[in-house]
Amino acid sequence: MTRHIEMLDALFKYATEGIVVVNKEGVIVKLNPKAVKLFGYTEQELTGKKIEVLIPQRHAVDHQKHRAKYFNAPRARGMGGLLDLFAKRKDGSEFPVEVSLSPFKTSEGDFVVSFIIDITDRKTQESLIAQANQQITKLNEELEDRVQRRTQELALAIKKVEQSQEEVMRALKKERELNNMKSQFVTIASHEFRTPLATILSSASLIGRYQTSEEEDKRKKHVLRIKSAVTNLTEILNDFLSLGKLEEGQVKVVYVETDLPQYFGGLIEEIKGLCKKGQKIHFLHTGIDAVWLDKQLLKNIIINLLSNSIKYSEPDTNIQLHVEATEERIQITLQDEGIGIPDVDKDHIFDRFYRAKNAGNAQGTGLGLNIVHHYVELLGGSISFTSEMGVGTRFEVIIPNHQADHEA
Ligand code: ADP
Repeated sequence: MTRHIEMLDALFKYATEGIVVVNKEGVIVKLNPKAVKLFGYTEQELTGKKIEVLIPQRHAVDHQKHRAKYFNAPRARGMGGLLDLFAKRKDGSEFPVEVSLSPFKTSEGDFVVSFIIDITDRKTQESLIAQANQQITKLNEELEDRVQRRTQELALAIKKVEQSQEEVMRALKKERELNNMKSQFVTIASHEFRTPLATILSSASLIGRYQTSEEEDKRKKHVLRIKSAVTNLTEILNDFLSLGKLEEGQVKVVYVETDLPQYFGGLIEEIKGLCKKGQKIHFLHTGIDAVWLDKQLLKNIIINLLSNSIKYSEPDTNIQLHVEATEERIQITLQDEGIGIPDVDKDHIFDRFYRAKNAGNAQGTGLGLNIVHHYVELLGGSISFTSEMGVGTRFEVIIPNHQADHEA
């Protein structure tokens, strides 16, 4: 029995928790050395005092109420629930504590023993951990921010690379097209140049042989042949030149004020020489005279279309050229009585190097309409056609009259 008491006494004395026993009135009846040390009082100073001396002033009143309630239904439990509890030392300083309560009865009445642990270290650690956590969160946020920024920068860089890649691909494609065109030029030149060159050669050598004045007519005929062959060659070269310029984006549009009847009169005069025997170009102009247009580009368009009508029509046929102009637009229609374009070829007629099946021996490269199409586009206009085999072909070009821009 005595051993038991000794053991309990040792437990009480050497416990690492502060132990304070109070009676029903909240008066301290006993406390262990650890409690003495925790609160900085002597044992005598605390014995007989209300437990509230160990509680900060702001919680003391509440504590009294809790204490009264506790004695009504006492049971062993932790104190304060989830609240942070503080205790007060003799010098008034506070420290965080964890307290658990256990009621017991003796012959002298009801008591409560409270076990008190100073959790300053734990709290410091917790706050350090909280601080560290806060820092980690901040760092994380910064990191996420940086990652996001870098991702954006990377996306931008990738886009730029893709763009320049596209540019390179475009340039490469253009280069390839140009190369393609050049090799097609060589093919076409070696084929198309052969006939006119042979004509020139034979006509020239024949001319050399006609020495008498009676042979003047024959000489003239061969001079004409040579001229026409040279015109042919020049046309082919011009087409390639135009296409090359178009490909390289060198064709610039320049609008000038133009008198339509005079302008078209000049064009017809220029092309008349190409007409076959008995072919006639009938020109009709309606609407206003003065318009704004690009003379060079429109000339190319009209000459191309007219020379096709001439080329793909028999002698003694008519070509109607109708130009109608308003303040807004210029509409040019060209109707011939030629061989027409077969239905199967209609979808491809504007393709580069495309020639219809019935083009036969008529000299050509299949470039003219492709160039015309590009030019019409450059002028912001449109081109369309209808054609019937053996009846004729009708081309219609509509381009804006740029008068409005210049008057503004
Ligand atoms: P080409 O140098 O062969 O004349 P174009 O591009 O000018 O090339 O014309 C393409 C093809 O369209 C011609 O080969 C021809 O078959 C057809 N074509 C163009 N204009 C006419 C027309 N007025 N009548 C009949 N066929 C035409």
